This record gives sequence, structure tokens and C-alpha cells, in this order.
Amino acid sequence: MLQQQPRLSIILVKALQISEQRTVLKQQGNPRVPLTFGQRLSLPFIRALSASGFLDAYGFLRRHVAQSSAYIVAYHRVGSTYEFPSDVPMMGSQDFEKQIVYLSRRYRVISLRELGGALNRGASIPAKTAVITFDDGYRDNYLKAYPILRKHGVPATIFLATGHIDSGTPFWWDRVSYVMHNTAREMVELGQFGTYHFNSTTERWLVARTIRERLKDLLDSEKNLVIEELASQLGVDMPSSLNKELFLSWDEIREMSRNGIDFGAHTVNHPTLIGMPLEQARREIVDSQKRIQENLGRPADTFAYPDGRLLNVNDGIKAILRENGFVCAVYGNPDALVSPGTDPYELGRLSPRWDFSTFHLTVSGLYPDLMALRRRLRRQ
Ligand SMILES: [Zn+2]
Repeated sequence: MLQQQPRLSIILVKALQISEQRTVLKQQGNPRVPLTFGQRLSLPFIRALSASGFLDAYGFLRRHVAQSSAYIVAYHRVGSTYEFPSDVPMMGSQDFEKQIVYLSRRYRVISLRELGGALNRGASIPAKTAVITFDDGYRDNYLKAYPILRKHGVPATIFLATGHIDSGTPFWWDRVSYVMHNTAREMVELGQFGTYHFNSTTERWLVARTIRERLKDLLDSEKNLVIEELASQLGVDMPSSLNKELFLSWDEIREMSRNGIDFGAHTVNHPTLIGMPLEQARREIVDSQKRIQENLGRPADTFAYPDGRLLNVNDGIKAILRENGFVCAVYGNPDALVSPGTDPYELGRLSPRWDFSTFHLTVSGLYPDLMALRRRLRRQ
């Protein structure tokens, strides 16, 4: 074991460095990459803004003075916080319901297809419009989120990575999570990226998240090598199926499709489309679209970019989407509002956290406005 530790560090740290360099290169080539929330507002402060009614008042006033805009909300998993594997943004059922109740009472919740259609027609967006989406096709969308959506009568769109739905193969980030949650080792050293002790679930979750963030910009084959190495060095025997019931079944998908839930394409294998040959990207997009259409007998004409950072969107990919009848495509951007004139193939989405006040801060419009102000000041 003493001999294994340095080898682990060298391989991983090298992979993490390569990934980091590629992220920087991609960002240099893409000046439109949105700013992140650098100056963090403290949670007690946001809670006070929310509880005092300030955010509701701000939202009310904003609707009367600002151009009408829509919010697209992106969820991934709904359930209990540490339900395994759970290394994607996860939200408890009660927190989820609180947000859905808020949206359904104060907003006109429409389907993403409807919003995409309006943007393509150049139609205006009615005030207080919101759209609800989920990524990846986890089964808790059916077990936990769907009953809540039905109860409150709101539509939603779920984006499916169809290869994973068909095979049940876990995503690479869930495999990283599995290794970190199952190793019997006490610590892992990641050189300049820190040393982590596996003392608690939180610590395991933290190191999984760190590694996941750093692996994002490796090729899939490189990611798989690193994860295998990680599993072998941390003494974890990775089963081929982590959880047979991790993903939705086509029966569950069909049932939801009959009851107000739309399904959009999210590729077959969930690769980063930028950097792969365009023909391969086309197959990933079109094959997932066809698979959904043949299972549901209705069009799948909305798309979510895998690893939805704007740096993973380009004109070549957008052209493929347009040629194949997609009406719109979404990515992740915590401060993006959709307005008339927004490119339908570049619709930003908010990914709310479980905490209601931070969700409230965003949907009041205050957070997007602060970010827009910050961008303007930076440009001056
Ligand atoms: Zn995804």
C-alpha cells in the first residue's frame, strides 16, 4: 500500500492537470463563457432577503419594468441527499415540492417545446413564464418528481441519454462516486489538488466532486482509464452495474409521456460533443432522438447539451440540431433568462440548489440582474 500511494498521485494529478489545461484552452477560444458567481453572498443574508419579502417585492417590480423573460429550471435527481450514487445535484422531495409549488402558483409553467416554438416564431414571451427540465433520466424522476409534478399539474421535459437508459450502465461520474464511497483506504493524495481523508460521507462526497470537476475535459477513453486506475489503487472492485434501477425504464417513460411529461434528446452516450468528429456528434444526437421517437411515437425535438457548459456549444453542433428538426437546445447558466431574441439553441438554465432562499434569489430576477450588472461593469 505504501508503494501504491505515489503511483496513484502521479497518474491522477497528471490527468487532472491535462483536464485543467484543456478547460483553460476551451475558455480562451470562447469569449462568451459566462462568469461564475465569484463574490458569494452569504446564505444567512440570502435567507433574510427571502424571508423579509424583499425578493417577492423585487420580482413584482421587475415584472413591471423589465423586458418579459422566461426561466428554465434544470433539475437532475430528486430524493434524499445521500441516496447512492448521488454525485449529481440532488434535492430532497420536500425541497423540490416547495420549489414546484412556488413556480406553479406564481408562474405560467409551460413546456420547453412551447417556449422553443415561441422563440422560433419571434413571438413574445408572456410575463411570468417558467419551464421545468430534468437531465439524464434517473429513475427518481419517476418515483419522486413525477408524482409531485402531477399533483401540482405542471409540465416538464426530461432529457434522456438513451444508451444509458437501454444498458443501465452508470455514468462516469457515478462510478467516481462509487469508488470514493466504497474505498476502505483512509485518504487520497492528489498533489496540488489537495489531500482528502475519507472520514465522513461529506468528505467522500467532496473528493468525488473534486475529481469529477477535474475529469470533465478528458476524453471518455481517458476518463475510463483514470477511473479504473482509481478503483484499482483505492482497492474498490467496481461491479458492472451499480444499481439496476438507477435509470428510468421505457415503460415508465411511456407512462409519463402520456401524462404531461415531454422527453428530449441528451445523446446516446453522454459525451462532450465538442472535440469529437462532427459525424460522430451527429450520430450521438440523431440516434438518441430516433430511439425516443420510436419508443414514444411522438417527436423528440428538444435537446440538452451533455456537460452543459456553454463552452461545449458551437455552430457545427447547432447546425446538426437545426437540420434534424430540434426546436431548441438548453445548457447550464445560473444567471440566464430567456428573452425574445435569445438564440433558441442556446437557452440557459438555472440549476437550483435545495435551499429555497437561493432558488428564490434567482427566480426573483435579482441574481440574474446582479450578474448582468457585474458583466457590464467588467466591460467598462
Ligand atoms: Zn447530462
